[in-house]
Amino acid sequence: MAIQETAVSYYGLGYVEHAAADFEEIRAHHCTTVILAVTEFEFDFWRPNLPAVVAAARRAGLKVLLDPWGIGKFFGGEQVSLFLQNNLENRQVSALTDEKLNAACFNTPAFRDYFMHFCLTLLREAGADGFFWDEPHYLLPKSYASITGGAGDDWSCRCPVCRKKFADYYGYEMPKLLTDDVKQFRWREALEILEETSRRIKVFDPAQEITICVHATLNTYYVTEQRGYDDWERVAASPYFDVFSTTIVSWELPEPFFRSIAERTAAVAKKYNKQSERWLMGYYRQPDDFAQIDRMTDLYESLGIDRLAAWTYRGGFGTRLAAPDALGLWDCIGRNYKRILKR
Ligand SMILES: [Zn+2]
Repeated sequence: MAIQETAVSYYGLGYVEHAAADFEEIRAHHCTTVILAVTEFEFDFWRPNLPAVVAAARRAGLKVLLDPWGIGKFFGGEQVSLFLQNNLENRQVSALTDEKLNAACFNTPAFRDYFMHFCLTLLREAGADGFFWDEPHYLLPKSYASITGGAGDDWSCRCPVCRKKFADYYGYEMPKLLTDDVKQFRWREALEILEETSRRIKVFDPAQEITICVHATLNTYYVTEQRGYDDWERVAASPYFDVFSTTIVSWELPEPFFRSIAERTAAVAKKYNKQSERWLMGYYRQPDDFAQIDRMTDLYESLGIDRLAAWTYRGGFGTRLAAPDALGLWDCIGRNYKRILKR
């Protein structure tokens, strides 16, 4: 199967007429889908405009997915978190030092309610086609020999809520070491919040499409990142997700790594009858030679990937994370989307 869908993410959801003009440009870059990065501030402040922004994207011919971007710092993203500003508790806690960390604990009823309210409100009001679960994670660790971060012995979360849940389930105090029971507990709880939210979304509207996008980790016998979603089989097997997606890897990594990630993404997705998605880094870094983007696009297609996505609109132009030639990178991604969709 050829690649059928091409997506790009988009920030800045305040003024409908500005977004509408940008959606035309996104369409002209041969994107079929826009992933709207909805921040907690936008949800709190600009919410009356969000349905009109979604409607403008649909008028431009785009499928629209909503990404609760960086919410509680549970999802990936640079946005700041109102939940963390307004809550002194319900934070992830370091196992080794007992210190509160700068991320919400998604196993607490407080954050689960907050996340559920955020998503279900957007579901009812915004009129989009689905949701995008964007790099959900425990804050720590990234473990040894990590591709996307540094080494660490510490882990989270060992907050009072997690400790009580663990003790109630296993009948003993939650260890300070990352034992097998702790790993099982973290995997199970990590999936619970996204499965329950996805389930309620689909009860409201069965046509809603859910993408789960997890970190593109090595997942070898020796090395996993232990962010809560590194057991891809367990994640992809969930009946509540439609698309299994793995995140961006830097253009600086060796090309065999691109192949390995894409092969494993396609295989796991296919095994559980999901669509597969791979990402192109369309911000911050760019290849020395843009021809690498052509090669990786062809590679992903040849390996049976169903969808391509790029972060972000205009290569992050104007942000601290802009690519050196942000607009050139954006145009290159658009050319590749055109090329791939025409096959
Ligand atoms: Zn916790």
